[in-house]
Formats: sequence, structure tokens, C-alpha cells
Amino acid sequence: MVSEDLNRLSGDIQLIVDGKRLDGRGFDELRPINIKVGVLKRADGSCYLEMGKNKVVAAVYGPREVHPRHLADPVKAVVRYRYSMAPFSVEERKRPGPDRRSIEISKVSREAIEAVVMKELFPRSGIDVFVEVLQADAGTRTACLNAASVALVDAGVPMRGLISSVAVAKVDDILVLDPMKEEDNYGQADIPFAFFIRNDKIESIALLQMDGRVSRDEFKQALEMAKKGAMEIYQMQKEAIKAKYMIESEEVNSDE
Ligand code: ADP
Repeated sequence: MVSEDLNRLSGDIQLIVDGKRLDGRGFDELRPINIKVGVLKRADGSCYLEMGKNKVVAAVYGPREVHPRHLADPVKAVVRYRYSMAPFSVEERKRPGPDRRSIEISKVSREAIEAVVMKELFPRSGIDVFVEVLQADAGTRTACLNAASVALVDAGVPMRGLISSVAVAKVDDILVLDPMKEEDNYGQADIPFAFFIRNDKIESIALLQMDGRVSRDEFKQALEMAKKGAMEIYQMQKEAIKAKYMIESEEVNSDE
């Protein structure tokens, strides 16, 4: 057992000091978010996103021909999602290549994305989403989903709405939004959520996982907290997409 796990069990790290989180945030406050759309020339759509100290990039290719061909579905597009952490993204070098954790994150994230992509419009084709974690500070799966959702829009993939994702943690018996590394590592529970949001309205939960334990009431509270946080992220995602198209239309107009 690594020393971090021992600390988690013994709970000897105080995460709420004088009613404040270690980074000074309020309990229902997100970390600062920065979103840049269309950062990669060779992808059909892309997005760079920072969520606190997390730095991630998403690249989307497609709809395009599926390889290997036998994976193609005659009635809808096949969506693939690859979550990967750079060796330099964490404190100790992360061994490159897929591991159990990244395979699990890729699967649940693909299922979340599939809830919004209009796959039925592209039979026999494939949509590939690659997300790369450049710097990790807890909540990377949520940051990557937020980036992937924007990159899909940037690629022009028809979508029913957006996916906006954030986690809630229980630390020192208190629920906190968007936990950072210390809260994730030493807290009592971590619950990542992703929502399918359309026209400023939450339609459904697209991802829900839980590490640790919370009571039924705490879960209800966590859900409300996550919904509020996800709506804030949704507005930022929309703003980032709009900002890109404003710049592009200005460039087109000045060329005329
Ligand atoms: P998420 O990043 O979605 O919160 P986890 O809860 O599994 O996923 O991981 C929490 C944090 O732990 C990560 O964001 C990262 O900072 C750290 N972490 C995850 N995997 C590793 C690893 N292999 N080596 C070092 N740190 C890691």
C-alpha cells in the first residue's frame, strides 16, 4: 500500500481549514477554466482546456471510413474514445500506453459522448476522439469530456447537445465541487458526473461513477451541486465555441 493510501485511511490530512478549502475556494466553486477551440491543424476538430491545474487536449477525426473495416456498423457511426495520460502529466513518470484505468475511463467517456453524437446520420463511418492529459490534478476524466465535447462541435459533428462534466467529493464530511488532487486523494468520496445538456437544460446524466461512500441525502446534494457546476461549464463551452466562430467570421469579412 502506498503512503497516499495510508493517509487516506487514517484521514490525517485536514482538507477544510477554518471553513475554507486548501486552495481558498468555496465549497461549490469550480476551479478556473480556460477553453481554446481549434488548436490543432491536422484534426477535424480540437480543443485545449484547463480546469485548475489540469491541462488537456482533445482531437476529433471524422466522420470518416472505419479501419479495420469489419468494425463498421451498417446503420450508424462507430464512436471511439481514447483517454491517455502523458508520462510527464503526473508527479512520478506515468508508464506510457494503456492501463486498466485509462481503458475504463475511455469506455465510460465514450458512452457519455455517444449520448449526444447523432450517430445514425453516418452509417458505416467512424468518429475518433483522442484526449491527452498533459498535466493532471484530479478530475482529468471530467476535463477531457468537456474538451472532447467542444472538439466534436469544432469538427462539425452533428450533436444533440453538449456534455459538461464535473466531480463532487466528500472531504472532512463536507461536499465540495470539482475536487483538486489533495481532495481527491485524501477525501472520503469522489463522484464524477457528466450531463447531456441541450438548450440550457440538463436532459440526462451521461456518466456517474463513485469512489468511496456517501449517504442517500449526501448523494442528492452532490447531484445538485454537480448540476449547478456543469451548467457553469456548459456556458463556458458555448462561449468558447462562439468566440472561435466570431473570429473566423471576422477574418472572412475582412477578406471580402
Ligand atoms: P481523475 O483524474 O478523473 O480524477 P482518478 O480519480 O483516477 O481520475 O485520478 C485522480 C488523480 O490522481 C489524477 O488526476 C492524477 O492527478 C492522479 N493519478 C492518476 N493516475 C496516476 C498515475 N498513474 N500516477 C500518478 N498519479 C496519477
